[in-house]
Amino acid sequence: MSSDNPLLGNAPLPAFSKIRADDVVPAIDAILADYQRGIDAIASPDAPRQPQSDAFDRVMLEQERLDQRLARAWAPASHLHAVADSKELRAAYEQAEEKITDFASALGQNRDLYAAVQAVANAPGFARLARPGRALVEHAIRDFKLSGVALEEPARTRFREIASELAKLATEFSNAVLDASDSWHEHIEDERDLAGIPESGRAVLREYARERELGGWLVTLKQPAVQAVLTYADSRSLRERVYWAYQTRASDQGPDAGKFDNSTRIEKILALRHEAAQLLGFANAAEESLATKMAKTPDEVLAFLRDLVARAKPVAQRELEELRDYARNELGLETLESWDVAYASEKLRLVSYALDEEQLKAWFPLPSVLDGMFEVAGKLYGIAVEPARDPVDVWHPDVRYCEVRDAGGRLIAGVYLDLYARSGKRGGAWMDVCRARFRDGDEMQLPIAFLTCNFAPPVKRTSAEGRPTSLARTAGEGRATPGESGGARDEEIQPALLTHDDVQTIFHEFGHGLHHMLTRIELPSIGGIDGVEWDAVELPSQFMENFCWNRQALDLFARHWSSGERLPDELFDKMLAARHFQAGMFLCRQLEFALFDFLLHAGFDPARGARVMETLEAARREAAVLYPPAWQRFPHAFTHIFGGGYAAGYYSYLWAEVLSADAFAAFEEHAGASGSVIDAATGARFRDEVLAVGASRPALESFIAFRGRAPQPDALLRSYGLAS
Ligand SMILES: [Zn+2]
Repeated sequence: MSSDNPLLGNAPLPAFSKIRADDVVPAIDAILADYQRGIDAIASPDAPRQPQSDAFDRVMLEQERLDQRLARAWAPASHLHAVADSKELRAAYEQAEEKITDFASALGQNRDLYAAVQAVANAPGFARLARPGRALVEHAIRDFKLSGVALEEPARTRFREIASELAKLATEFSNAVLDASDSWHEHIEDERDLAGIPESGRAVLREYARERELGGWLVTLKQPAVQAVLTYADSRSLRERVYWAYQTRASDQGPDAGKFDNSTRIEKILALRHEAAQLLGFANAAEESLATKMAKTPDEVLAFLRDLVARAKPVAQRELEELRDYARNELGLETLESWDVAYASEKLRLVSYALDEEQLKAWFPLPSVLDGMFEVAGKLYGIAVEPARDPVDVWHPDVRYCEVRDAGGRLIAGVYLDLYARSGKRGGAWMDVCRARFRDGDEMQLPIAFLTCNFAPPVKRTSAEGRPTSLARTAGEGRATPGESGGARDEEIQPALLTHDDVQTIFHEFGHGLHHMLTRIELPSIGGIDGVEWDAVELPSQFMENFCWNRQALDLFARHWSSGERLPDELFDKMLAARHFQAGMFLCRQLEFALFDFLLHAGFDPARGARVMETLEAARREAAVLYPPAWQRFPHAFTHIFGGGYAAGYYSYLWAEVLSADAFAAFEEHAGASGSVIDAATGARFRDEVLAVGASRPALESFIAFRGRAPQPDALLRSYGLAS
């Protein structure tokens, strides 16, 4: 193997500009071969018995070491695939990814490795290991058990059969939803039929028509089309047809009844999940799901959801009455049908809570949002986030690299910011790990994060001659200033302006980034976000979003891009009012989905089958204020739980929101004393007890250590405007 492969280097930061598609597969091949040799040595039954500390190092630390070597190559390669893709890179990525997936699944089924890890746990002195070390071993054993490797025959083979059957069914389920969505469309040739739909929505429909080489407009079941029609179309019958087609996708109902029907797949998925859970010793799939979550028992989850129902439903009922009255009196809709709800709500929102997002953007120039975000984090956690002092190798000129230093000025972490949309870059926003904090003997690898967004780049307006110039270079550099060269004086440079939604997005992802970067755990598998219960992993990110709704924090960064004026009170009040609009109905809908998902998995009885519609009906009786028509088949396209990883886990969204709102409330309570919600003492406690500890102890323990008590939902209800 040639040593000049940039993916095999050991430098603190990857050499992005040197990485070529051709480097990926050879690097991964070489690393996986070494990895396998390392595992064989660890897992060999003849490995010498050693004292406890040596056993931990030989088995656990060595695995971390092998895994980090892979991560140092794979993190930059897969990141480039996501943000600077090419045909060659995609091909290399796919090939390498398959190798890594196969390798990981063989590792999870390695009985000798499992025995070696168990031997570490059983050795005398295990209890004297430091907490992170014990947590690492316990997590490893738990994951081996959940993968079925601990089972004896014939259960082990049966478990593997079920796992592969379930993977197949999940893919089939999602494909049926996609096929059903593609199958239905309605061609519109008379623009009058689109009355009410704004130009942006019509453009989408026109594009769908063009794709099929049609004139006019094509209403499809793709999300933007459905949303445009249901929210804006004045034609009630068009709304009804779209709702009918959309809400019966892949089912026994609707225009394609029976054609892509997921009914049998749902039955099979639930039965197999139940059987697999029982093989592992759980009562049902809901109990199995909780093995990796903060909530401990199905009863705890159900009590959590039902408590929220009790508080949210009366508010939702009032909101629905208001909507019905409005629809009847102002829109002439005698009965409010399911296909009227989004339409009437939008009209009501406009008259009562109108907020012009475009106008609001002027107060959120990206450079100032970034500065403010770093300032909030700096004040909270006693850190400084600043552009790197020396040049750093990046994959695109827009990318900025910032260093994080502690109060003593010591470098503790770094973060790449890649914030603008461009071609070859995947959509959306996310935080990803570039390097994890890892101590190996005297060597310390510092945590490095990728923060990726897809904001609209800055625009340069020229008053006279239009000389287009890329100015996508303002991130992390403070407010953009006009060019220094002569003759450019008449130009006004407008920095990238964010919507308030964008601002929340970047705070959210930066929250994940802080969780990763401020960890003090030195074993990567349980440091930062890794290994954290996944109903708790959104706590640090959603926590940061709260600052986007807080006057004191907003005053740090919500400044008009040209006048520097602070966000006017009138606009701030409108923002809050709009946030609370129909919050009760929104919450009840989430609760209905979460209850349905959880009851379905917790209450499965092989003798009685899945009882999908019956369970949905039960969830609705508890949580819903709005009843869709009997032919509605929402479960048949519920890919979160049947095609994705959210089975018996949909409640996690709300669970994490309760945690983050309650954590933020600790800062609000303290603001009474210190006058500022950006309180350093509370921030230090949050950093020490929550952010720094990763998965080295249960999330509940960390939360209680920070808050002094278990989480309570009151703060969440307050933030929704639902507190009495
Ligand atoms: Zn998140």
